[in-house]
Amino acid sequence: MILPPKIVDRHRLILLLSILLSAGFFATTLFGYFVSKQAIRTAIIGQDLPLTSSNIYSEIQKDLVRPVLISSTMAHDTFLRDWVLKGEREIGEMARFLAEIKHRHGAFSSFFVSEKSGTYYTGEGVLKKINPTEARDAWYFRVRDMKEDYEINVDRDLANRDALTIFINYRVFDFAGQYIGATGIGLTVDAVHRLIGEYQQRFQRTIYFVDQQGRVVFFGNQSGQQSDLHQRPGLGLQIDQILRERTGSYQFTDQGDNHILNVNYLPELKWYLFVEQNEDMSLVDVRKTLYVNLAISLLVTLIVIFLTHLALTHYQSKIEEMASTDKLTGLLNRHAFSILIDKLMAGYRRKPQAITVLLADIDHFKSINDRYGHRTGDLVLVGIAGRLKAALRAADFAVRWGGEEFLIVLQDCSREEGQVVAEKLRLAVEASIPCPSEPQIKVTISIGVSQFDGHEAAEQTVNRADTALYAAKAGGRNRVCLAA
Ligand code: GH3
Ligand code: MG
Ligand code: MG
Repeated sequence: MILPPKIVDRHRLILLLSILLSAGFFATTLFGYFVSKQAIRTAIIGQDLPLTSSNIYSEIQKDLVRPVLISSTMAHDTFLRDWVLKGEREIGEMARFLAEIKHRHGAFSSFFVSEKSGTYYTGEGVLKKINPTEARDAWYFRVRDMKEDYEINVDRDLANRDALTIFINYRVFDFAGQYIGATGIGLTVDAVHRLIGEYQQRFQRTIYFVDQQGRVVFFGNQSGQQSDLHQRPGLGLQIDQILRERTGSYQFTDQGDNHILNVNYLPELKWYLFVEQNEDMSLVDVRKTLYVNLAISLLVTLIVIFLTHLALTHYQSKIEEMASTDKLTGLLNRHAFSILIDKLMAGYRRKPQAITVLLADIDHFKSINDRYGHRTGDLVLVGIAGRLKAALRAADFAVRWGGEEFLIVLQDCSREEGQVVAEKLRLAVEASIPCPSEPQIKVTISIGVSQFDGHEAAEQTVNRADTALYAAKAGGRNRVCLAA
């Protein structure tokens, strides 16, 4: 097949198109991703975490106010003070008093510790004697010596399934202002528990409390993993600064994931509330969207490229065909011939072979036009072209050289062999009915044969064939003549 000059460089065009399309898609998709990512981060830092933190904080405060009031009432109760001053005689009375308060307020425990006797009373009666050397009783001696009226002590209560329990330890004074003991109640912070659990589950936030030494004292709704945050990767370096600043937003990286942290100091508990969110986890959806968008972009790019390729291939082959073939007969035109003969000559220089050309001209064609009209003349031309083509081998090619002249190039074929082919063509034309709608029309052709001498220009070979053709015409037509 002949290859006419490239009208469009298809591959380059498709490459350019692919680059433009994928760059465009890639840029917009990535831009969208980064905008969403930034928006999510801003929302986490600016709203989500602070809101979670302040909700939990206010829930804790709500849980604290009530027990402080109750304990204050207990500390100022005249019965309690009188009972102590009277020498702590009727233990049943004190137990009833403590049990009553415990039940009325739904407290987990209620207590009074007498300074004078060192007895620890509860709703059930005497629990034990306070011992200064026992670690579990250290709280009492701390309360006895402190300046404030009360303290809030948050402890995980072993007796209550490790639930976070708030103890209010209130100092009690007699009517003369003399310290006589400590009283108060213990309450579980169920609401805080529920809230923390909810936030952890719903928003995949990690919520925990940290003491002033940077140790985790209470982790979500589980008992505290007494871990030191100084050891935590990413956070360890910042922890001292965080504890100093008490409140703020921070970021750190742990196991390759970016974490956003909101910290709030709770002065009542002397604890820090840490609310933490794994930013990479909250970006899972956005990332999923990114991948889906990239896949869609890739698919669209591939489809567009595929369709463009199809269209280009189609039009290019159409254009190539139009540029290289004769419209009427479908044979090659002279333009295609010049390309093909150049190729053939180049091939000859690499590997010489016999090349023979035949120049055929229809005899007295003018009279057919005159008699049957130009249109029938055209049909005859088409018929003859078809006959010639059918008689040739795949390596040979036929060119419409002029109006009713045909040039045939035979590869690997000597002049004498060419003469045989020419004779065969002449007989085939003579025997054919070139125009089926006018079967009475019979035509003959005259043919000049010349062989490429290995040096001359292709033009000269054709010229010599033309001279031979002239001789065939002069010799009476419907014959084959060999060039010199
Ligand atoms: P001869 O070759 O035997 O000497 O006689 P001729 O009548 O064939 O003479 P010549 O080859 O000089 O004439 C060619 C004629 O072919 C003249 C022209 O009108 C006609 N012709 C050329 N091209 C076409 C074409 O595309 N269609 C038709 N119908 N006729 C054509
Ligand atoms: Mg003619
Ligand atoms: Mg002619």
